[in-house]
Amino acid sequence: MNNIESLYLTLLKRCKSLKSINQLHSHIIKSGHISNSFITGNIILHCATLISNALHYAQSLLHHFPNPDAFMYNTLIRGFTDSDHPHKSLTTFIDMRRNIQPDSFSFAFVLKAAANIQCCDTGIQLHSQAVVCGLDTHLYVGTTLVSMYAECGLIDCARKVFDEMFQPNIVAWNAMITACLRCCDVNGAERLYQQMPVKDLVSDNIMLDGYMKAGEIHLAKKLFFKEMRVKDDVSWSTMIVGFSHNGCLKDAFDLFIQLHRVGLKPNEVSLTGILSVCAQAGAFEFGKILHCYIEKLGFVWIRSVNNALLDTYSKCGNVNMARLVFERMPGKKSIVSWTTMVAGLAMQGYGEEALKLFHQMEESGIKPDGVTFISILYACSHAGLIKEGCRYFEIMKNKHNIEPSFEHYGCMVDLYGRGGELQKAYDFITQMPIRANAVIWRTLLGACSIHGNVELAEEVQKRLAELDLNDSGDHVLLSNIYAFAGKWKDVVSVRKSMHSQQLMKNPGWSMIEVDKIMYSFVAGEKDCEITKEAYTKLKEIMLKIRVEGGYKPEVTGSVLHDIEDEEKEDSVAMHSEKLALAFGMSRLCNGSAIRIVKNLRVCNDCHSVMKLVSKIFKLEIVLRDRSRFHSFKDGICSCRDYW
Ligand code: ZN
Ligand code: ZN
Repeated sequence: MNNIESLYLTLLKRCKSLKSINQLHSHIIKSGHISNSFITGNIILHCATLISNALHYAQSLLHHFPNPDAFMYNTLIRGFTDSDHPHKSLTTFIDMRRNIQPDSFSFAFVLKAAANIQCCDTGIQLHSQAVVCGLDTHLYVGTTLVSMYAECGLIDCARKVFDEMFQPNIVAWNAMITACLRCCDVNGAERLYQQMPVKDLVSDNIMLDGYMKAGEIHLAKKLFFKEMRVKDDVSWSTMIVGFSHNGCLKDAFDLFIQLHRVGLKPNEVSLTGILSVCAQAGAFEFGKILHCYIEKLGFVWIRSVNNALLDTYSKCGNVNMARLVFERMPGKKSIVSWTTMVAGLAMQGYGEEALKLFHQMEESGIKPDGVTFISILYACSHAGLIKEGCRYFEIMKNKHNIEPSFEHYGCMVDLYGRGGELQKAYDFITQMPIRANAVIWRTLLGACSIHGNVELAEEVQKRLAELDLNDSGDHVLLSNIYAFAGKWKDVVSVRKSMHSQQLMKNPGWSMIEVDKIMYSFVAGEKDCEITKEAYTKLKEIMLKIRVEGGYKPEVTGSVLHDIEDEEKEDSVAMHSEKLALAFGMSRLCNGSAIRIVKNLRVCNDCHSVMKLVSKIFKLEIVLRDRSRFHSFKDGICSCRDYW
């Protein structure tokens, strides 16, 4: 580097915007140093990696340079790979090949682009070109080939490349393990993990993540608690998020508290993870503590954390706090923020307000996605807006080109069903381009029961029986919008690799928060002290509503009610929401509302009990089941007995 070069390099480092680069560039042109490849190469590097929205500038610099070298091309290829336009990385590579020989860096960067766009044909072509250039067994290129094949789902090809590598390093081993996990081969990953000559923390974290995604919670726990001697931020947050995704809410709370106890600070990933747990469990008080904590630690500037907080307040039934978080969000609100708020309003039954917010969202220039429309259709059906719902369904398909999913069809059936248009709902189902699943039939069944149409209910029951219920894809309607599917898009790019989340069949449970501690109840469980306490109280409550309210237990399994399998097995008298209610009544002081979260749909009997208790004990009860909130007061429920 000569004096002129080092002078320009110093000046370049000070440039923080495209404008300042532009000024420096004109100066270089005037001074006649523009043909210096070192100087131009560094400007390209600066534009491609450090300044936002300057890739096109880097590209034009390269195009105007007489004989661009490999460094310039590689820099641009790398810049495009990580940008929103990874295909431009490929065109730059083709351009490069016309002029000069690509090297190992060029291949590694462009292969990553092929992986990003998940185009296996391009990947295979690039692989054969690397073979021609004698670079396919190069460590760096080989590792990227493994990752690329894994991303494209071609695990055998990944394995072949890996096996041909001469002394793969730790990065290559980790890439191969990741490849197995991405293709859901946990055993294969574990074998490799055991064979690895040296492991690092990254390897341990990859395995943790893999176990969690495969639902192998005990293996993840064993590795984390017993085997890992060193743990970092990623290890802790992987566990918390993993617990959250697998519905192990208690484990997640415990681990988060432990993280705090050992003096570590949570990062944004563990915070969004634990907030999602609060949302699932309806842990309002815990959520409030987290909120203070987030403000204190300055996380309030991070959008993903704000979105998770917003979701938590919505799911805890506190729409005012949700609104507050929404309105105070710094910066431009993302699609996730808008949609979460729309969903929050919809779930609480504020249909008109949800629609109003939806229009504000459109006005602000944000394009709605499929999830936004689920919330909109849900809002319409719960507010009895049949016409509007149909209109939005059409708008979604025709204006926004969004292919309706099961959830959208389900909302439409609910919309017709709720409005008493049962025949229309039935016709809609039979005319759908996809085969209706159990959730959709159950929705219509629910409508039949409300409107007392036994004939149609029997027909629907027949259709339900024909379905393979193990394959029902029983989705949680609105309760876990983005978080459950791991779709906090603007959260954490590391987790982008989530393979299709397998929804697990949970047994029925209910949760209640008392003194900032979450208690969970499972139907029929009798062993622990807490449950005993709940049972004793429950007996007393049931006796009182029998005598004073004329309560009679409902017979389950009638043709009109399709109860979840887990619930059928247990006697209705022991349903988890009744236990949670009794426990809350024994522990909470008089006058405070009882908030319960249930993971499945509330059954008829529990619903009647809640209504009676709210009247006889003059108690407000808020029950969130898997599809909506029920607020019981003076013997009436906000759902008007329709859920
Ligand atoms: Zn029940
Ligand atoms: Zn209700």
